[in-house]
Formats: sequence, structure tokens, C-alpha cells
Amino acid sequence: MATLALDPRLNPITAAFVTGKHSMLIDGEFRSAASGKTFSVYNPADGEVICEVPEAESADVDRAVRAARNAFDNGPWSKMTSSERGRMIWRLADLIEQHTEEFAELESLDNGKPVAVARVADVPLAVDLFRYMSGWSTKLLGSTIPISAGINFHTYTLREPIGVVAQIIPWNFPLLMAAWKLGPALATGCTVVLKLAEQTPLSGLRLAELLQEAGFPAGVVNVLTGFGEGAGAPLAAHDLVDKVAFTGSTEVGKLVAKAATGNLKKVTLELGGNSPAIVFPDADIDGAIKGAASAVFFNHGQCCCAGSRLLAHDSVFDRVVEGVSDIASKIKMGPGLDPATEMGPLVSQEQFERVSGYIDSGRQQGAKIVAGGERFANRGYFVKPTVIRDAKPDMKVVEEEIFGPVVVAQSFSTDADLERLAVQANDTIYGLAASVWTRDLSTAHKMARRIRAGTVWVNCHNVFDAALPFGGYKQSGWGREMGAEVLNNYTEVKAVTVKL
Ligand code: ADP
Repeated sequence: MATLALDPRLNPITAAFVTGKHSMLIDGEFRSAASGKTFSVYNPADGEVICEVPEAESADVDRAVRAARNAFDNGPWSKMTSSERGRMIWRLADLIEQHTEEFAELESLDNGKPVAVARVADVPLAVDLFRYMSGWSTKLLGSTIPISAGINFHTYTLREPIGVVAQIIPWNFPLLMAAWKLGPALATGCTVVLKLAEQTPLSGLRLAELLQEAGFPAGVVNVLTGFGEGAGAPLAAHDLVDKVAFTGSTEVGKLVAKAATGNLKKVTLELGGNSPAIVFPDADIDGAIKGAASAVFFNHGQCCCAGSRLLAHDSVFDRVVEGVSDIASKIKMGPGLDPATEMGPLVSQEQFERVSGYIDSGRQQGAKIVAGGERFANRGYFVKPTVIRDAKPDMKVVEEEIFGPVVVAQSFSTDADLERLAVQANDTIYGLAASVWTRDLSTAHKMARRIRAGTVWVNCHNVFDAALPFGGYKQSGWGREMGAEVLNNYTEVKAVTVKL
């Protein structure tokens, strides 16, 4: 807390929230953990403790799930009209928007990201997601279906909420990930137990207060702070939960899928990636260089869709690598709360060690580090934006998801046809995203079809919209977030057959 008091950049309103007592939202009330336990939240810019939050365990999970179950089965929520539900979601969006500055500061303080980025990306995207989803509340349609059993039947489908949803989110976009999860659940009429990431609970706890202010009835959304094993695991396994929606690592996604088998709850997973940014020789090379740098350095590379593999044609390879390295070396690093900062610290000591470990392994295995490759400052979890070249396909830095500001550049040859290039681009267990940089329309669309990933960007990367589905092929996940597609994952379809 001493850190906070000393940081003059923090708005007094934000500081008052952070230094206040933190409680979890369970059944419409703010509570401590049943055990009374708390855990520390750290400032990644200096490694200091900024506050304590409750540590939920099985007893708290059970209480929250029962509250959500009761709200779904018996509460006023299920009797509300879809229009009322939609308006409540819109109200929540308005409230978040009114507190944009506070949310931007909370994200910056807790996650380390530049406050300027949180202000123009994380917060408005969350607001937009809720607004987009509020519109869906009144548009969840079934169909009238003529059947071949005879004409004396009136047959139709209803789309009903799936029920109680457990939602487990990561730390890279704390507020936005909460919005991606809560938006469709609330639009479809589900009730929720949301577990925030242990590294970044602050914006979610503030959101819990706004959920109350917006008027969501008790138990409709319950918000827990706790660790993966202590709170996430019992939540994913709970028998009264109908569906679990998880965003995080592929490794933990597999544990969540296993935990869900007890009652065969429905599962959606938004997991890791190792996405290629593919630069063709006919591309606007300067634009592609800027785009490829931003593809991997945005949010410090802590994006599941980060363009961590840069594939450039050998005729432009050196120029592209030099350009990206030049950008990397000029990125202004510092605490997220400094308005001039372009890249802040990684989120935690653990991530700092993990990313640094990958850089070391690349170096040891003989790849060349041409930018960054070391820590910045002597405290905090800063890793300089790093460019690696001359890596062999079986090196860890090529094969695995680094989840940091590290790009591994590889070339493809002049005579490589698109088929072979697609094999190279698809040579990963993941299939989340890719970007293709070219002026040739035919190349762009052919590559878009050949890449096995849930998102393909052409001459851009990291473009998101509430209306666009996002999710992964292969080990990048099950199901989609956002767009109309996500609603399928929050609804059950009921066929009603009436003999006339
Ligand atoms: P990362 O590796 O990016 O930190 P994780 O996949 O470990 O991401 O964590 C994402 C979310 O999953 C966090 O909210 C975390 O607490 C939760 N989590 C971690 N382990 C488990 C688990 N065994 N069961 C359920 N949730 C978990």
C-alpha cells in the first residue's frame, strides 16, 4: 500500500477503491472468504504488494454456485422479459463507460499495461461487448419446422438458457475477458459464477459493484477471487453447474475439461496460440513491418493470438527482421501508469521467469537474438521486446507458446507454393489466429482458406469486434467467444412437437 500512496499518478478515486476492503460478490452480498483467508495482489511495475483480496475455496465456490442455481431456478431473473434483461446489460455498459478512467487505472496498476492502452482498448471494448450482447437478448429465436411425420403437427424449437455457468478468466485483459464471458451469459438469461484471475482481481471486483448498481438480482452474477486449484478446480467440477467457460492456458484447459466430466457439463475453452504473421514480398513492406511488430508487442505479447511466429519471404526477410527489431528497440518501457509508457512490465514474477526462460533456451539452442533479450530496469517484471532469428523448427521458441514480447522470425523460400507455406504456417498444435500481409487478393484469400485457425487477418492483426466470433481450431479451444456464434454455447435448443 505504501507504493500506492507514493504514486501521484493514481486518481484518488481509484486509490480509494484499491486501498479499501475487498470482498467477493455472492448472492447479492459482499463477503469475505468463509475461511477468512486473503491473498496479496502485486504491482508488476515494482513487485510491491498493493492490497489483499479474499481467497475463495470450496466452501465459497459452493455457496456461490448454490446462489446462482437458486437465482436461475427460482429467482426473478428467469421471469424477466428479454427486453428488461437487455436494458439491464446496457445499463451496465453505461456504468462501465462512466468509470472508464478508473477501470483504465485499475487495469494498468494490476496488470501492468499502459493506462493509455487500457483507456482506448480494454475499457471501450468491454463496453461495446455488453452493448452488442444486450441487443441479442431480444433476438434469441427458435424456428418453425415442417416435419415429414405428417401435416397434423405443429413443430417448433425454443432456445433456452443453458443454466448456471461457471466462468474462469485469465489476467491478460481482466475486464475485457469478464465482459466476453458475462455478456452472452446475461443476454441468454443464464446465471454465473465468475472466477477472476488471481494476478488481476481488481477490475472484476469493481465490476461486481457496478453489477449491483445496474440492478442484477441477487445470485445472477457471483464474483470470486481465488487461485486455480483452490477455487477454479472445485468450480469446474461442481455438480450444480451446467456449463463451464474457460479462458487460459491449453494445459489448464485440459484439466477443466476433465473436471467437467463428473456431471458432463458443457465446456467451452479459449486457449493458447502460436500464431503466424506471414509477409509476402508484394506486401506494403513498411506497413507489414509495423503490423508484425504490433502483432506481437501489443499487450506485451500477452495475447493468445499474438503474432509470435513471423514468417517472411526470403527476398524481404532481412528488411522485415531489421524493421521489426528497430521498432522493438525504440518502444518506450516503463510503469503502466506513466502516460508516456508504450510497454509495461509482464504481469507477474512467474511470467517474467517463464518468458526469460524461453529467451535463454533460444539462445542456448543457437538462435540469434537481434533485439532485446534481457530485462529492463532492476525491479518489476519488465522484459525488453525481443526479436529472435535463425531458429530451427524444432526449437522450443518455435514450437511453444511464449506469451510475452518475443517474436521468432523464420523465412520461406521463393519457390515455396502456397500449399507448402500453409503447411509451415499450420505446423503447430494451436490454431487460434494468423495474419497474411500481401497486396495480391488471390494470395490473401487462398491463404485465408488454407490456414487452420479461427481468425485470419489480412494486412492487419489484433482487430477485434464484439460482432466477430473468436476462438480456436485444434488445441486452441472449443467453441467461440463473441458474435452470434457464442450464443449457441449459452443456449439449449428444445424441439416442441404438438399433435393438432
Ligand atoms: P496462465 O498460464 O496464463 O496464468 P492459467 O491457465 O494458469 O493461465 O489460468 C487461467 C485461469 O484459470 C485463472 O483464473 C486460474 O486461476 C485458473 N486455473 C488455474 N488452474 C486451474 C484449475 N486446475 N482448474 C480451474 N481453473 C484453474
